[in-house]
Amino acid sequence: MKRIVLASGNRDKLRELQYLLRDLQIEIIPVHDLIPDWSIEETGISLEENAFIKARDAAERTHLPAIADDTGLFVDVLGGAPGIYAARFAGTDCSYENNVNKLLRTMLCEENRRAAFRTSAVLVSPEVEFSVTGEITGVIIEKPDGEEGFGYDPVFLPDELDYTFARCSSEDKHRISHRARAIAKLREKLVSHKIHG
Ligand code: IMP
Repeated sequence: MKRIVLASGNRDKLRELQYLLRDLQIEIIPVHDLIPDWSIEETGISLEENAFIKARDAAERTHLPAIADDTGLFVDVLGGAPGIYAARFAGTDCSYENNVNKLLRTMLCEENRRAAFRTSAVLVSPEVEFSVTGEITGVIIEKPDGEEGFGYDPVFLPDELDYTFARCSSEDKHRISHRARAIAKLREKLVSHKIHG
């Protein structure tokens, strides 16, 4: 069984990754199991750069191959904002609700509501480094709708569904989400580079 460290403290990401890579001979170890106080500043100016910053640090400090990802929400009429700053759109230490409210206020009366979630996922090991991306397009609706998920889910209506991400079952979301698409590509690369057990 190959051991790979996940450079994230997010338990939902761990579960999603374990589910999407479940048929590979890989044990995914959350970085905090190995380095309890692990933290890192995301100082990059792109999703890919931020993902590499996290994965390189975790790989270097654990001596294991490391996976990391980074996601942004890109709204057309806002010139791509909040983009890579999606987590802190309404300020540092803000809640998901603060971010959603700021987004809705900023887009008040805007007719063009097109947006996309994009994820960059990377793997770093002594032998190889690679990055992949996943995207889903849709619109930002005018009022939150639904209780599932997290982040901007209640206001994101994907093009391929009739309801928001916050009304999606986790199976549906694992099938079409930006992150699931990136992880599916990562999976192919893990297999082609024989990093799967
Ligand atoms: P991260 O890079 O995965 O931590 O994502 C950064 C921010 O993007 C999160 O704090 C959320 O606000 C938002 N985000 C990421 N993925 C999703 C998603 O699947 N649905 C809704 N919001 C998301």
